[in-house]
Amino acid sequence: MHSDIEDTNSGWKNTVFRILLVTTTLAISAYLIGLIFWPIGFIAWLIIGVGGTLFFIVRQHARNTVYRCVECNNEFKISALIDFFSPHTPNSKYLKCPKCNKRGWQIEIG
Ligand SMILES: [Zn+2]
Repeated sequence: MHSDIEDTNSGWKNTVFRILLVTTTLAISAYLIGLIFWPIGFIAWLIIGVGGTLFFIVRQHARNTVYRCVECNNEFKISALIDFFSPHTPNSKYLKCPKCNKRGWQIEIG
């Protein structure tokens, strides 16, 4: 049986590995597409590459982060899409609680 600490560590290694994989794939594809379709290929790659990487990081963040409602103390997770578009500070985020439906600066706890 895994402990929580081991799961967190393997999760991190997995994340780092996938970021490296994505970065390598992006670098190779940028080289090929950039050469063949210059400069439009390069611009398209930049948009897809940067957008994809950003979405990947946000998705990873949403999956690992739990928020606590300031109104009712309900703990909940959010989707990557909501994570991406909601305003936030380093330790809180402006969200609607799924339990009491009140909007507020919910505390990031996970
Ligand atoms: Zn609530």
